Amino acid sequence: MRRGLLGGTFDPPHLAHLIAGEAAYRALALDEVTFIPAGAPWQKADREVSDAEDRWEMARRAVAGVEYFRADDREVRRDGWSYTIDTIAEFAQDEIVLIMGADAAAGLPAWHRAEEVMTRASVAVMPRPGVDRGAVEATGASVHWLDVVPLAVSGTLLRARCRAGLSIRFYVPEPVHRYVIDRGLYGHQA
Ligand code: ATP
Repeated sequence: MRRGLLGGTFDPPHLAHLIAGEAAYRALALDEVTFIPAGAPWQKADREVSDAEDRWEMARRAVAGVEYFRADDREVRRDGWSYTIDTIAEFAQDEIVLIMGADAAAGLPAWHRAEEVMTRASVAVMPRPGVDRGAVEATGASVHWLDVVPLAVSGTLLRARCRAGLSIRFYVPEPVHRYVIDRGLYGHQA
């Protein structure tokens, strides 16, 4: 099967994640897009991230109802840092397309066992405001650019909005919005 893997912190999952998954599904004729919250995201080692169980629950809720989207908890259950190469190895029977934002793609050469990652998988990239395409092209990786509207939304921005008492409704799928409110994540107001 042709499987898209969209990994991330998902703190919280938001519209850009879903739009990237949808665009890759359509453009690259994928059979499924698997959203994988990182248990211990090494790229975010310098900051606090929300509890992995909350991020997993939000990822699950974000994709519910889309038959070709699935959330997978293997990185949340795995001990140690969450490395994409380990996850790719677990999908040995599949053709893998990694789906990511331009910021993540620009950092690809620094990933754990980057050469193996790029040998084993192809890469689909969603443009991201503030990230120059040249930064991705400079890595030398051959990537497929997804044709989507660039969205200046991020987990950081949404957490800050909550802390400031601003709504994140419609920036995240409604079941995620409800979960954030019910669990009191990110501050008083969501
Ligand atoms: P944070 O601000 O908490 O670091 P984030 O939304 O940037 O959060 P993740 O949840 O880790 O980050 O994102 C998962 C993947 O989705 C990454 O590959 C990231 O580049 C991509 N992504 C997230 N938001 C966007 C966006 N607005 N445009 C393009 N790609 C995005």
